[in-house]
Amino acid sequence: MRLIDHYLAGGKAPAAARKSPVFDPNSGGIQAEVPLGDAALLDGAVDAALAAQPGWAATNPQRRARVMFKFKELVEAEIDSLAATLSREHGKVIADARGDIQRGLEVIEFACGIPHVLKGEFTQGAGPGIDVYSMRQPLGIGAGITPFNFPAMIPMWMFGVAIACGNAFILKPSERDPSVPVRLAELMREAGAPEGILQVVHGDKEMVDAILDHPAIAAVSFVGSSDIAHYVYKRGVAAGKRVQAMGGAKNHGIVMPDADLDQVVADLSGAAFGSAGERCMALPVVVPVGEDTAERLREKLLPAIAALRVGVSTDAEAHYGPVVNAAHKQRVEDWIQTGVDEGAELVVDGRGFKLQGHEEGFFIGPTLFDRVTTDMKAYQEEIFGPVLQIVRAKDFEEAVALPSRHQYGNGVAIFTRNGHAAREFAARVNVGMVGINVPIPVPVAYHSFGGWKRSAFGDTNQHGMEGVKFWTKVKTVTQRWPDGGVGDAANAFVIPTMG
Ligand code: NAD
Repeated sequence: MRLIDHYLAGGKAPAAARKSPVFDPNSGGIQAEVPLGDAALLDGAVDAALAAQPGWAATNPQRRARVMFKFKELVEAEIDSLAATLSREHGKVIADARGDIQRGLEVIEFACGIPHVLKGEFTQGAGPGIDVYSMRQPLGIGAGITPFNFPAMIPMWMFGVAIACGNAFILKPSERDPSVPVRLAELMREAGAPEGILQVVHGDKEMVDAILDHPAIAAVSFVGSSDIAHYVYKRGVAAGKRVQAMGGAKNHGIVMPDADLDQVVADLSGAAFGSAGERCMALPVVVPVGEDTAERLREKLLPAIAALRVGVSTDAEAHYGPVVNAAHKQRVEDWIQTGVDEGAELVVDGRGFKLQGHEEGFFIGPTLFDRVTTDMKAYQEEIFGPVLQIVRAKDFEEAVALPSRHQYGNGVAIFTRNGHAAREFAARVNVGMVGINVPIPVPVAYHSFGGWKRSAFGDTNQHGMEGVKFWTKVKTVTQRWPDGGVGDAANAFVIPTMG
């Protein structure tokens, strides 16, 4: 069986005692195995990172940026094969896999500007003969723990900024689709990053715990489901680390009575069912405002859902492919059953979907629920599959309250032609990222990504200036160059002020 090995400075890792299968979601078979590393393996990676980091931090930022430029060039040169590999392990269609890589590259483009953003601040004459300046210095070694659903973009969110800032980085990608993260690390080395600056260790909870407990790792960035994000946050902080831990989501799309419903249905189809709903910025809940809007929306949604093409991830005509593995397929189908048991109206049932010639693949047909209510578990929890729920709101106030009160607060969208309503909604809703007539409001790379409530633990977002802040610490220098005389000795025992 093919092994997708760790990527470590100094070459091959010792044979692993434990391994995990990597499935082919299109066929349902196992295509490779991934070793599950332990604390001893991590120790070796940390030693190599410790050896490499000071030299990298001392490399001027313009040279570090050149490595980022080169890395971007190398990834672009093989984006087709990277997308094919990603799609084969994840199950998302090829065009979407390219988007996954491209969104990550946009953070690398931001990182190419690191000399500019790392410039410190300076105050001349803060006091008599006194200047103050601050600088941003790297933390040392950072680690990233990433989910299966964006195996290229999310690692690049993290290591792009961390490495450009002068840190060494250890990535623990999802064990479900680990090939692309390994290839990205190889390309970073080829681009000129010294050995040990980007390493990939595979593993499960054992490796995650080793990362969280390792005294030489200064900061941990995590993206995954909320319970694990919360656990990672607590354990990492208890070990004295800086931690940002992004969690799950249940994003709502509010449809005002004046919205262009054809546009809404086109946007919703992609945002709810694209990537089989396996996106933290998917829109699995739609909230039509008023009964008339709900009826008109439902009428337009039905033919759009019937027209969706579910296919293998290499099918250029398919709107979406299989989910990542059999366990996840089962989990999504169990949630559909829970929705039925709780009394929601199952309008379109995607369970039992079989793709001809790929009967063992992990496919789920598009599913639509109507008359979903807030007391239902199937509404409160994240399903992470091709399942859209209609929650009817009587008015604008109720539509603002629904996402605001939900336990998750990652993203939300409002569809309307009314600028006042949109502005009011954006200001008042208790959610971290808002789209106005934009179904998937993922911020561009030079802004920053992060949800609220149980969608993110810690207070610093991913990428943009927030990312730079997370991966650096500020040092502030107060300097005085006396021109010979002795200072005011009488006041030497009083706290200095600028008064
Ligand atoms: P997951 O929580 O199962 O896994 C994430 C990472 O944690 C993986 O690297 C995994 O190996 C590790 N892990 C798994 N179990 C663990 C345990 N018990 N202890 C410690 N570590 C463990 O998430 P997933 O299924 O890979 O990804 C989907 C989830 O990620 C969804 O909830 C989705 O909403 C969320 N997500 C959030 C964002 C965001 O930015 N908020 C982005 C993408 C995905």
